[in-house]
Amino acid sequence: MFQLKFDETKCFACETNDCLTKCQYLKIDPDTAKIEIKKIINKKDSFVLHECVTCYACEEYCPTGNHPFYLIVQRQEELNILPLPDPLIKRGIRIGIPFRGEPDIQEIKGPALNLGVFSSLATLTRGKLFEGLTLMSADSRKMFHYFCQLMYLHFGRISVINERLEKIIETIAAHKVKEVVHFHDECYGTYTSYAPAFGFAVPFKSIHLFEYLYNRLKELKSEIKPLNFKVAYQRPCSSRLSSDKYQFVDKIFDLIGAEHVKREYVGENALCCGGTILGQKKKGSRQFSLDLQKKNIDDMQRAGAQICVFNCPACMQTIGKPVAKKGMMPVFMSDLCRLAIGEKTS
Ligand code: SF4
Ligand code: SF4
Repeated sequence: MFQLKFDETKCFACETNDCLTKCQYLKIDPDTAKIEIKKIINKKDSFVLHECVTCYACEEYCPTGNHPFYLIVQRQEELNILPLPDPLIKRGIRIGIPFRGEPDIQEIKGPALNLGVFSSLATLTRGKLFEGLTLMSADSRKMFHYFCQLMYLHFGRISVINERLEKIIETIAAHKVKEVVHFHDECYGTYTSYAPAFGFAVPFKSIHLFEYLYNRLKELKSEIKPLNFKVAYQRPCSSRLSSDKYQFVDKIFDLIGAEHVKREYVGENALCCGGTILGQKKKGSRQFSLDLQKKNIDDMQRAGAQICVFNCPACMQTIGKPVAKKGMMPVFMSDLCRLAIGEKTS
């Protein structure tokens, strides 16, 4: 019922094939890119389907908004070329079942705050920055009712997302919310990129956490004391689905007096935290992931970062400790903003 809207004619007219030539992991020249994208469109096997590390970045690289990553994942499923070992996929799909029991639906007046599956993030949403927002649910037993399911892109399982997403949208809408601030890039990307790409209707407006924080910090500007820290930012894979919101990283840093260090793996060139790659079934994936993490963290350190800023709990879990071992403090963006207005953080 829900079908990817993918315009093949854009690809046939495409001169750059940026989706594949800019891929930082596969190293594809323009001629090969042209051939491989055609194979993928035509449901033929392609080495891209086997080698893709599911970093989401081609969604950002495509200049026409044609959703090459969603197409890659769809083909992986159709051709049974799965990035993770089968037992891990089966277990992961079972864990994320969203509809056990009933959610606690209460009408929310004003903007809502959605933590998705990460109820533990509730401790990060205290204080003035979040005044006026109502948490949709912070009950850890109910969190799967709000689990956007986009994680299954890493599993090569578009069908699981499409089976579950409509009901999750209904659950959020049942709160009668007009505006929802999504804490995680993955949720924001679900409702503003994935849902329209597959034809899901979303009856609420989505606001990216960083846009919200920036506007709230402007309201609290008189309370900001410049932090004077040098910071690096670990960009999560799902932020590639909303690259127009990436500008708020620098806008926030400027506002709170944090210096975003100049480094190689930043912005479009950002490297994935390696968390998903660790478990992939390709031979050598674990070592590849560890090397990637080292390259990324060394780059932050070389650039003189004192703090590594995160937004994704999975990135924090994957490289928070290695970052700290290199002498940089791992801090969530929301906590950094709270520090700037003189609040104690968790
Ligand atoms: S997906 Fe985008 S970048 Fe890739 S070939 Fe098609 S139009 Fe070009
Ligand atoms: S998702 Fe990442 S690794 Fe996969 S093809 Fe796109 S850019 Fe390359």
